[in-house]
Amino acid sequence: MTDEDRPAPPVIRAEAIEALLTEKGLVDAATIDAVIEAYERDIGPMNGAAVVAKAWKDPDYKRRLLDDGTAAIAELGFGGPQGEHIVVVENVPTRHNVVVCTLCSCYPWPVLGLPPAWYKDPAYRSRVVKEPRKLLAEMGLDLAPEVEIRVWDSSAEVRYLVLPEPPADVDARSQSELVQRVTRDAMIGVARIDG
Ligand code: FE
Repeated sequence: MTDEDRPAPPVIRAEAIEALLTEKGLVDAATIDAVIEAYERDIGPMNGAAVVAKAWKDPDYKRRLLDDGTAAIAELGFGGPQGEHIVVVENVPTRHNVVVCTLCSCYPWPVLGLPPAWYKDPAYRSRVVKEPRKLLAEMGLDLAPEVEIRVWDSSAEVRYLVLPEPPADVDARSQSELVQRVTRDAMIGVARIDG
């Protein structure tokens, strides 16, 4: 068992505070869940979406991003805890990247916000390594047999962000339109961009 497997004391404290506030009727558990979900699905991943859309439109930026993810992400003003060393991996037609933390739930907070519950699930963490193609298909992402799948195991030292393949109409769309198309799941590598 490593230190990372144990819940950090702040997590326990936060859960205790939430339980107390809920019990005293000061907050509503559903409201807290809604806030967390917004950070998981909408607010958090918007930073990553801005990075991805810029990389799709600006080849020089994309080069810098793949060369030194942390520095290129910092150009857009994003960085900080859980994002001190971010490596960006690019999806291409012949190679698909997907991210996991097999030990716990390491995740690039500055670009993706909070990890979704399934990312922390032991089933995802083991199966994406053992049978990635089958698991991704179950999650709705069918990859042709000839597409190579690379699984990146995050750690306390290195966090990964997937640069998804752009949609077919990338050239006709503005960067701000493209930002709206980028999803959290595509940046983890369990989905592709629609269109
Ligand atoms: Fe971890």
